[in-house]
Amino acid sequence: MSNSPRIAVVGAGLGGAATAALLLQEGFNVRVYEQAPGFSRLGAGIHVGPNVMKVLRRIGIEDEMNRQGSRPDFWYSRHWQTGDVLAQIPLGDYAVKHYGASYLTVHRGDFHELLIKALPSERLSFGKCLTKVEDRGDVVILSFADGTTEEADIVIGADGVNSRIREELLGVEPPKYAGYLAHRAVFPTPELKAGMLPFDACVKWWSDDRHMMVYFVTSKANELYYVTGVPVEKWDLNDRWLPSSKEEMRETFHGWHPTVQALVDATVEVTKWSLLERDPLPLWSRGRLVLLGDACHPMKPHMAQGAAMAIEDGAMLARCFKEVGVSNYADAFALYEANRAARASKVQRISHDNTWLRTNEDPSWCFGYDVFTEPLVSPSKA
Ligand code: FAD
Repeated sequence: MSNSPRIAVVGAGLGGAATAALLLQEGFNVRVYEQAPGFSRLGAGIHVGPNVMKVLRRIGIEDEMNRQGSRPDFWYSRHWQTGDVLAQIPLGDYAVKHYGASYLTVHRGDFHELLIKALPSERLSFGKCLTKVEDRGDVVILSFADGTTEEADIVIGADGVNSRIREELLGVEPPKYAGYLAHRAVFPTPELKAGMLPFDACVKWWSDDRHMMVYFVTSKANELYYVTGVPVEKWDLNDRWLPSSKEEMRETFHGWHPTVQALVDATVEVTKWSLLERDPLPLWSRGRLVLLGDACHPMKPHMAQGAAMAIEDGAMLARCFKEVGVSNYADAFALYEANRAARASKVQRISHDNTWLRTNEDPSWCFGYDVFTEPLVSPSKA
């Protein structure tokens, strides 16, 4: 391994950690640099579709995910006031049979912990905030806020929506505030009261201008999560998130169905997050630098596929390195972009429009995708 090109992954979020795990599995020489001093169990849930579970199978954490996560039989869409079913999308056994793996909803912190544990500790350095990246043609120099530098032959920017690597490729440009914020809360499952619907394992409540997505984050169904999308004109981009409150939730969802009211009443702690996005980038790589995940295509979370796209990106990049050889990084990057850009942009667009599964539709193009077997498109044909 010591003679093989040194691959630096900047950022150990869901995308960076999954990418590093896959590259290490293929025998590549990988080091991961993460700015955070460590990770804690952030109060949020996440959908993990069959398209991602197939990648997690390769990493070796699929079974543990299945043990920990909630496996809803359906995704319901419901009317905000009446509770009427607008869509009922089969998941559960149907997903396993038709899409090749489970559809799970899990605690984001539990999922991230499994990915981090999949990395040998000597390959991951915490407390390494990249401040400068310099592609000298024959080598890349990475400089960190702690005054240290490292060399690499290839640098993967998995450093999220405010990516330093993206800045190096395309200049400084803040992401766009999408005009919406998302409240997020995880709390013990409340008791049902008279007039309430049973808690669906996975449901999105829709009105014309806002929504609330609700699901269990554990296989025991003892913890529930909600995440909203609410229009708010202005947001200071210096704040990634701010505390919210039960009172604010009551006001925001006034008049909604009793089940939604019960969820608001049961809220223990709630935060609100700005939703950020960018237009599709004109390039994904240059020289020895390449981007993935939110560094490359940040999106509104309304398809619940942002992390999924980051993880698929990492898996496709590993596949392309294997296909053309890691020393041939320029060809590998071109092949990678040719096989990811259209899908990521489509998901970005639908997420922006917030139409996904509002009515009955066939999600097989998204959930059925298998990044390891999808026929490769050559860069000239993309
Ligand atoms: P990130 O998760 O942002 O990770 C980037 C990492 O890089 C971080 O650990 C950061 O500390 C590190 N970093 C940043 N800068 C530096 C630096 N200079 N030096 C070193 N390290 C650095 N997606 C789904 O698939 N399903 C969902 O259900 C879902 N729900 C969502 C709900 C909300 C409200 C939001 C906001 C997003 C949701 N997403 C969901 C999207 C998902 O969170 C992101 O798309 C995903 O986290 C992107 O992963 P990433 O690894 O590219 O970036």
